Amino acid sequence: MPSGFLDTPIEYLKGVGPKRAALLKSEINVFTFNDLLHYFPFRYIDKSKIHRVADINPELSYVQLKGCISKLKVVGKPRAKRLTAIFSDESGSIELVWFKGFKWLEGKFKPDVEYIVFGKPAIFNNKYNIAHPEVDVPDKDVQALGMTLQGHYSCTENLRSRGLSSRNISKLMTALLLKASKNIPETLSPWIIDKLGLISREEAFQNIHFPKNNELLRRAQARLKFEELFFIQLRLLKQRLGRIAEVQGHVFEKVGPYVNEFYKQHLSFELTEAQKKVIREIRTDLGSRRQMNRLLQGDVGSGKTLVALMSMLIALDNDFQACMMAPTEILARQHFTTISRMTEPMGVRVDLLTGSTKAAKRKDIHEELESGKLQLLVGTHALLEENVKFKNLGLVVIDEQHRFGVAQRARLYYKNIIPPHILVMTATPIPRTLAMTLYGDLDFSVIDELPPGRKPVKTFHFFESRRLRLFGFMEEQIKLGRQIYIVYPLIHESEKLDLKDLMDGFESITRAFPLPQYAISMVHGKLKQEVKEFEMQRFIKGETQIMVATTVIEVGVDIPNASVMVIENAERFGLSQLHQLRGRVGRASDQSYCILMSGNKLSEEARVRLKTMLDTTDGFMIAETDLRLRGPGDLAGTQQSGILDLKIANLLRDEKILKYARDLATDILKDDPGLELPENKNLNQTLRLINKNQPDWGSIG
Ligand code: ADP
Ligand code: MG
Repeated sequence: MPSGFLDTPIEYLKGVGPKRAALLKSEINVFTFNDLLHYFPFRYIDKSKIHRVADINPELSYVQLKGCISKLKVVGKPRAKRLTAIFSDESGSIELVWFKGFKWLEGKFKPDVEYIVFGKPAIFNNKYNIAHPEVDVPDKDVQALGMTLQGHYSCTENLRSRGLSSRNISKLMTALLLKASKNIPETLSPWIIDKLGLISREEAFQNIHFPKNNELLRRAQARLKFEELFFIQLRLLKQRLGRIAEVQGHVFEKVGPYVNEFYKQHLSFELTEAQKKVIREIRTDLGSRRQMNRLLQGDVGSGKTLVALMSMLIALDNDFQACMMAPTEILARQHFTTISRMTEPMGVRVDLLTGSTKAAKRKDIHEELESGKLQLLVGTHALLEENVKFKNLGLVVIDEQHRFGVAQRARLYYKNIIPPHILVMTATPIPRTLAMTLYGDLDFSVIDELPPGRKPVKTFHFFESRRLRLFGFMEEQIKLGRQIYIVYPLIHESEKLDLKDLMDGFESITRAFPLPQYAISMVHGKLKQEVKEFEMQRFIKGETQIMVATTVIEVGVDIPNASVMVIENAERFGLSQLHQLRGRVGRASDQSYCILMSGNKLSEEARVRLKTMLDTTDGFMIAETDLRLRGPGDLAGTQQSGILDLKIANLLRDEKILKYARDLATDILKDDPGLELPENKNLNQTLRLINKNQPDWGSIG
């Protein structure tokens, strides 16, 4: 198989050359023939479909018109100039508008030439117009070949201005496909192609770029989507098998005195069925010979900490150490407080290690860890430091996992010769499809039930005009003995403006709720650790009724008496953040409230976000909406993964294909874990190539 052909550097393609090659590389990451081949159109235009100006209606997301362009002129005030032109066909005329590129455009259109104009019609001053339309002369090639669907490639401004428009990319693609035929190796086994009724890989590439008809376009997309998702799954699942086979895990055979005593004497409530189920799953893992890599999902407030604690006690019962890592210092401290309160009566040695642990204390901790005296360590990133060495670390719990990168987790993994069992906990519900791709090699547990007696948080959206009502409501709640969070956006802790908002907010709250009747805490990222801790403690102890804060309190904080969450500038928060913040209240049996404050001007997306918060408290539904709004690339914690660099498949729309691909990959590996059978030769070769070309992203959860 001359697969080397596709690795040819892009400059060797007819029509490219060094300058364009540099541009293709820097703008769209196209380095080789193969990269270009995978640069798929983002839209197809039915070239046979020409609209008439008279038929334009608001339902049409785009129109394609054929006719003449005339009367170009620059209009408008000096600072808001635009170029307009009149486009006419036999049915009528419509205005075209541009807001930049006047000089170049003015010379471009000739009065007696027929143009194809493509764009989105909009209504302006009660008339339709088209802003920044794409304008082409009718394409002879396309017409001659009888093709009706034309692919449009997305181009950056830089590409376009230097002569690489969608049409030019299309020309390069023609040149490439002419040369490439017979050089596009098949990656799937013939039996899979037969079984699924797929078209060949070569045919798929031909038709994804130059579809002969709608049916073939659909089949090309199906084939390439399947292939993309299938190899991701095959790779993840194969890695997982490898890990199970190669990586031996500690065996925690028994459940001993710690677990038993804790369960019988220190647990003040009954575990939920879901918590019990998950603890059973974890116990099974820990007792088998394989190293556990488990992702525990549970909505905010579902009681994950307790599951973590019981798992750690199993490790202790088997004479191993355990540690728990949290993403913020506040959270680490809170876990430490909870855990030491519950375990110190049983004589467990617990400690806390964070960035602000003093040197002397740090030294003690290091020594006790190495001697094995310290059994349970809670902390932040500080746990990852080189000089934190354990005598025999058996279990690592990572809380609120999305704040940690894959590489950081890997460092914990290597803190023992036999890697510790790993339990990753997240409250960010990950849509199932995303989880299958992102954590395809982890096992799953879900706590799908909240402790009994919880009432759903009542959520309201207030515009600024209702601030007085808000203050009135806060007053009532404080009279009832409740506590209140007020959260300000501080997306980047360095943003001076945000900090000013927070300070102004604090002042106005202080005026509305003055001493000595009221006391207010304030916490934000710029404060010294001691101050933060002091303020948190005052609130926890009930000495203050209101906590003004930034998102430093976003995850994990557990103060059951706080039952009102006010979110300022709620329109500036992402959905998962809003959900996390709301999760800080509703942690006891009191009715809790979440009030989303916003300005009057809202973008469409912000409107959807706020409405979603009003409509549901279901974290999974919120996550689905979030994924839909933002796309997977932006979902918390996934940016660095690279796994989601999908070229053609879409995790939302192609869920069925993904499931099928995963099942098929599972079946194949069951019979042929090493992919050594002749019938799986193509799969093996493709996987090798992928492994060679891509950094190792899947080997650790
Ligand atoms: P999260 O899953 O968000 O980390 P936590 O572990 O912080 O949730 O638990 C939320 C609150 O619920 C805590 O105050 C905890 O003590 C309490 N809790 C946990 N499990 C139960 C249970 N089975 N019954 C009653 N309360 C529980
Ligand atoms: Mg938690």
